[in-house]
Amino acid sequence: MRENRRNITLEGGHISMYELRKLDSPVNVTRTFMPPFSEFTAEIERLWNNSWITNNGVLHQEFEEKLIEYCEVENISLLVNGHLALETALKTLDLKGEVITTPFTFASTIHAIVNCGLTPVFCDIDKDDYNIDVSKIERLINEKTVAILPVHVFGTPCKVHEIEKISKKYNLKVIYDAAHAFGVKLDGKSIASHGDLSMFSLHATKLFHSIEGGVLSYKNSNYKKKINLLKNFGISGPETVEMVGYNAKMNEFQAAMGLVNLNYVETNINKRKLITDKYVSLLKGIPGIQLLNYSLNNIEYNYSYFPVLFDPILFGVSRDTVHELLGENNIFTRKYFYPLATDYDCFEEKYSGLDLPNAKAISDKVLTLPIYPELSLETVEIICENIIEIHRRSL
Ligand SMILES: *Cc1c(COP(=O)(O)O)cnc(C)c1O
Repeated sequence: MRENRRNITLEGGHISMYELRKLDSPVNVTRTFMPPFSEFTAEIERLWNNSWITNNGVLHQEFEEKLIEYCEVENISLLVNGHLALETALKTLDLKGEVITTPFTFASTIHAIVNCGLTPVFCDIDKDDYNIDVSKIERLINEKTVAILPVHVFGTPCKVHEIEKISKKYNLKVIYDAAHAFGVKLDGKSIASHGDLSMFSLHATKLFHSIEGGVLSYKNSNYKKKINLLKNFGISGPETVEMVGYNAKMNEFQAAMGLVNLNYVETNINKRKLITDKYVSLLKGIPGIQLLNYSLNNIEYNYSYFPVLFDPILFGVSRDTVHELLGENNIFTRKYFYPLATDYDCFEEKYSGLDLPNAKAISDKVLTLPIYPELSLETVEIICENIIEIHRRSL
């Protein structure tokens, strides 16, 4: 650790001297969880002699069963990644028209809608939990609307009961992008049981992973057959190709990693909780800092991310300056999610004029801080000391 002094010109024009503590080695916003090597090889060994390493092998079947139990749902399908799972969910429902969604998400959500030939319709978000604002959904519904695709952003559950009410009233499908929400419970029940389908991403950077991987959870058992067809070229028999599909199957190495890592989910969530509690205790009450509310007692959080909103006026400097100063001191944060999906280059100016005040404000202020099970509480303290020092010197 060494002191890092740096003069910076603040937004107000005056010069301030920061005395920040630089970490000896880089700390990234996340770090892939690696289980004990021997546990992974023990799983792999099971499949070595029978030469069956993909296409619904034994580990795949076992993983599916374990997830049905863990997620407390009737049906689980495994796919090669979360994105193709989301596209598969949309294709399974055979939708055509408009899908109401959020601009405050990862590119995958919107690209799934567009790749399936559907039109995304962007709804503003709630200023407290950053999820789709349920009070603004109905005004976006018209005769072309076919579904709502909300995201449980940072693992905080959406207002699922209100969304269900709206979907029933207008006869819309609901697909949850639950990529962030593995292990989350609402009212004592797994979040996986809401909507027509929910998608969980098991990408290496996520809280629980299978190297890459995607999970669909759903109540309607009729979906199983179509999902199986879609993810395997539409092939239903040795001489039958029933529909146009693609290849989105999970292989046995992925399932092996998933099976091993599933044993560590609870421990890892508990470690993340301690880190979150530390961050909250040190950053709570600092002017210009807004944290998520982790104290709603009907929610069991998974602590998958630690987002902080920095208000440039009250905090003293902008989110971008905090991001830059922390980065110079080996603390790598992410502007997650910035830009909004409506501002992606690939959409050109198509969605640029929309009235999404909360989404715009939050996307301009948000920074996610490092969080992963092995992150030490001492490092969390240094990160927070630096943030407090930036605030102190910026006034
Ligand atoms: C990670 C993620 C996805 C995509 O999942 P992959 O497994 O990486 O394909 C989709 N939506 C959100 C919100 C995500 O964070």
